[in-house]
Parts: sequence; C-alpha cells; structure tokens
Amino acid sequence: MVRVSQSKSAKVVGVLALQGAFSSHTKVLDSIGVSTQEVRTPQDLASVDALVMPGGESTTMSQLLESSELFEPIKKLIHEGLPVFGTCAGMILLASKIIDGRDDQVSFGAINIEVQRNAYGRQIDSFEADINVESFDSPFHAVFIRAPRIVKADGSVEILAEFGDDIVLAKQKNVLVASFHPELSHDKRIHEMFVKEI
Ligand code: GLN
Repeated sequence: MVRVSQSKSAKVVGVLALQGAFSSHTKVLDSIGVSTQEVRTPQDLASVDALVMPGGESTTMSQLLESSELFEPIKKLIHEGLPVFGTCAGMILLASKIIDGRDDQVSFGAINIEVQRNAYGRQIDSFEADINVESFDSPFHAVFIRAPRIVKADGSVEILAEFGDDIVLAKQKNVLVASFHPELSHDKRIHEMFVKEI
C-alpha cells in the first residue's frame, strides 16, 4: 500500500475575537500566509499555537474574558509558554499592573510592566508617529489610539521600540506588547516578527 506522507501541519495563530480590532489582525496574518482562528470560546483555544489580543476596550474585554470562561485557560497557556501578542487594549490585558483601570478589571500579569490607560489623552488626542524598531532597517509608522502608556518596566523586559521617553514595543519571554495598533499601518513587519517566534 502506498502511504501518502502528511506534511507537518501549519501553525495556527488565534485572534481573540471578543471585542475590538480583531478582524484587522486576521487580515494582516492572512496576508502573510498564516492560518488564523478567531477565539471566542475555550474550545477555540485547542487548535492555536499562538494568540493575538487586539486593541479595543480593555474593560469590556476583561468582562467578556470572564463571562466566556476564557480567562483562566488563556492564563494557563501563557504560563506554559504560548506566544502572545497584545496590542493597545491587548497590552493592557497582559500587563502586571493597570493604572486608571476599572476596579473589577482583570489582567493576565504576563509581562512585568505597569500601564496607564488612556495616558496620551482621549480619542481626539490619538496620533501617529514614526518609531525605530530594533532590527528594522527603516522606521515603522505607528498609530496610537487612546493609547495606554507603559509607565514602568522591570529590567527583565526587552525594549524593542520607544517613542520619546516611552517604551512602545516590548517583549518578555513569550509575551510581545505594543501600545499602538500595528495592524492599521499597512506594514506587516511586526506581525512577521511575532510569527517568526512561534
Ligand atoms: N483605552 C483603551 C482601553 O483602555 C485602549 C485603546 C485601544 O485599544 N485603542 O482599553
């Protein structure tokens, strides 16, 4: 009997799809040839090799993470080394401490940073800036929307980009965070950087 050899299955990147800018992340990942899985239930986590947490509203996402019963399983997977990438509200969800959050707002405590919500101002104060990212040979045009500010980072956090005096792209082990929205820049390099780590 001739056996058909099976190719090693491709990696799947989950995109947390409870609220916010998840579909833009899915589009960027699709465009770089990565299979994606929108994550809304604990069952959706079974097939993912990595997870993107999008921008949006972290207080709402926090509530939905608990009501969907995703919070504990995701926390466990991150602890076990699942690569995760949090952008804007997603970064807030991954931080060890949130300033100006809601009292009942939860976070995964996956990266040793303190973040202050809406620290650059309100929606109207949203802005764009070219930032220099470690290992990129030209600047990345970053879009900041009601962005959180990293006000403190532990020495174990790797700084990948700064804007002025603020860290805006950072990494600690399997956790990558951006205070801006890389999925809105028509520049795939940060997603490619994340996918390379999987
Ligand atoms: N200010 C929002 C929050 O606290 C984050 C904004 C964003 O993700 N664009 O959740």
